Amino acid sequence: MPSRKPATRKATLLDSPAPPTRRAETTSDTLAPVPVDAATLAEVFRRFEAANPAPQGELEHTNAYTLLVAVVLSAQSTDAGVNKATRSLFAIADTPEKMLTLGEDGLRERIKTLNFFNTKARNIIALSRRLVEECGGEVPASVEVLETLPGVGRKSASVVANIAFGQPRIAVDTHIFRVANRIPLVVTKTPLETQEALERLVPDRFKLNAHHWLILHGRYVCKARKPECYRCLIRDLCRFEPKTPAP
Ligand code: SF4
Repeated sequence: MPSRKPATRKATLLDSPAPPTRRAETTSDTLAPVPVDAATLAEVFRRFEAANPAPQGELEHTNAYTLLVAVVLSAQSTDAGVNKATRSLFAIADTPEKMLTLGEDGLRERIKTLNFFNTKARNIIALSRRLVEECGGEVPASVEVLETLPGVGRKSASVVANIAFGQPRIAVDTHIFRVANRIPLVVTKTPLETQEALERLVPDRFKLNAHHWLILHGRYVCKARKPECYRCLIRDLCRFEPKTPAP
């Protein structure tokens, strides 16, 4: 992991919106990272919006139910791999009723290219049964209800609530957790803590798309092993050091 450099001078108002790195001193005389201020955080999202005003998720789906299934399938699998499997699956099973008709064996056969396909098939059949028996075959719009379904945690429930129902939830996956803590927009220890902090701090006008902007940034620019800082549109706002130079 690259190291973080301590601040060399104090922030002034003239530094807005990107004040120099500020660190909190600890009893062991080490320096802890401090998130960027509110103006810088807003500027980060303003630039994401200017570059990509209408970001889209990359999981293919035709309705709220197929989105929910695709999200469950995407755990530990790439979106491209999921899309490859679901194109033929959703052609014959795009509702919970049709999925139950297909059955667990039929579903397993169609998703066997994905990691943990046995568990995923079991969960999708079980959640489809719950939707039919308890929700009239509809996908509930509530994160709290969604996350009670088999195979659906807070992150998956928030993705569905955001994309299918337009709710301003910021689901946090490994990319968003890394990006948010690198800049840092927040300093957090878990994805759930990160989601709660981002939903509190991100200005309302950016909340609906924040998940997409951050995930795309993490996937294609601020990559895990080697972030491509030299072509990053928020390079001057980000406190991560050392920045990756142009190749
Ligand atoms: S400057 Fe580098 S570390 Fe910071 S957000 Fe951009 S790519 Fe990530």
